[in-house]
Amino acid sequence: MNPFTYQHAADTSAAIKMASSHAAAKYLGGGTNLVDLMRETVERPEVLVDVTGLPGVIGQRPNGPLMIGAAVKNTALATDMYVRSAFPMLSRAILTGASAQIRNMATVGGNILQRTRCRYFYDTAARCNKRDVQSGCDARDGFNRYHAILGASDSCVATHPSDMCVALAALDAMVHLDGPTGARAIPLLDLHRLPGDRPDIETELRANELITAIEIPPLPFAQRSTYRKVRDRASYAFALISVAAALDVDEKGTVRDVRLALGGVAHKPWRAFNAEAALKGRVANEENFRAAAETELAGAVALRDNQFKIELAKRTIVAVLGELKGREG
Ligand code: SF4
Repeated sequence: MNPFTYQHAADTSAAIKMASSHAAAKYLGGGTNLVDLMRETVERPEVLVDVTGLPGVIGQRPNGPLMIGAAVKNTALATDMYVRSAFPMLSRAILTGASAQIRNMATVGGNILQRTRCRYFYDTAARCNKRDVQSGCDARDGFNRYHAILGASDSCVATHPSDMCVALAALDAMVHLDGPTGARAIPLLDLHRLPGDRPDIETELRANELITAIEIPPLPFAQRSTYRKVRDRASYAFALISVAAALDVDEKGTVRDVRLALGGVAHKPWRAFNAEAALKGRVANEENFRAAAETELAGAVALRDNQFKIELAKRTIVAVLGELKGREG
């Protein structure tokens, strides 16, 4: 680990000021990913600005959006009674991630900005375009069981590791930011980037911008939502495929509205807009669920070890929608 100094920020403006006064500063949340990366010398900040003291509040306005402070711990969000009843997919997604100890430490802001778990990214002896631009990508011909099937590029086939972000993508969450040029908010779906030829640029964050809060707009039918994660072992494993879904079916059995997002498939949380469009107005049955899944995965491209993910994604979509349809009855 390289030497660094530590500063604790009392508020948002102090944090931005501290980070902006150093060329190589990083914001520190729970540290559950950043510290690992520092140990491996993948990340080499000279200054850590601790932002865990910033507001960690979950605020719900009647019939309005849910506001979640970026410093809220993952466990607190997953176990919040309002979140559990209004957005069960979000609670379930968080509880499938990492371990209880890590969820107790990890913050919402840090979860969003965690970096890929591609093993070659962590191995400084391997070629990795994300760590070292234009050095190559050892995952392409290496062990790529966990890698992307949608939206990848020749430069990078890594996946985004967050479960929570998959649910936030399905829920149309907004990300509130503050930084040297002022405050702004952007959709979570626009925060993370596909790799293109610059996989080292992972988000649309500007220099020293800080995530301050997440906003989830009301979505009444999200009370009937869920998150399913398929992985190699029952706990403490990243998703091979995950699906966050909410389904609204009318009295005739027709899909009135649907939200669908996938994890473990791409460099960013993947909102399944094509599947959603294919389902709206159609009868909620297995045949149409499968057709929608086929539509979404039509552009999937497999690597040597992850061909199975294409069919697995389709089957998981069908199973999750079928489960939600069953609950409607
Ligand atoms: Fe690096 Fe991306 Fe290739 Fe993994 S997939 S080795 S993160 S460039």
